[in-house]
Amino acid sequence: MNFSRQQEAQAPTPAPAAAPTPTPQVAPCVVCLVLPKNTFFLPCAHVCCCEDCAAILEARGVDGEPEGTYHCPICREKVTGRHRLFFT
Ligand SMILES: [Zn+2]
Ligand SMILES: [Zn+2]
Repeated sequence: MNFSRQQEAQAPTPAPAAAPTPTPQVAPCVVCLVLPKNTFFLPCAHVCCCEDCAAILEARGVDGEPEGTYHCPICREKVTGRHRLFFT
């Protein structure tokens, strides 16, 4: 058998860009400023809180509103649902 020579793609080694400081992929939660934001609010679609703070906001509630009512910390829109985001 005469295999044709496999041409390996010779990717030129990319010169590493000078980036001494690691850039955080996700800005921290606007509430605790510690944990990465990973919670998606509906209907405003803001991702501004970590899961813990979203749960705290929900548990704390809003005066004069039914239990479980809370507002997006960014736009003050009433949150009707939230989703945990998973980054890869
Ligand atoms: Zn938080
Ligand atoms: Zn919002």
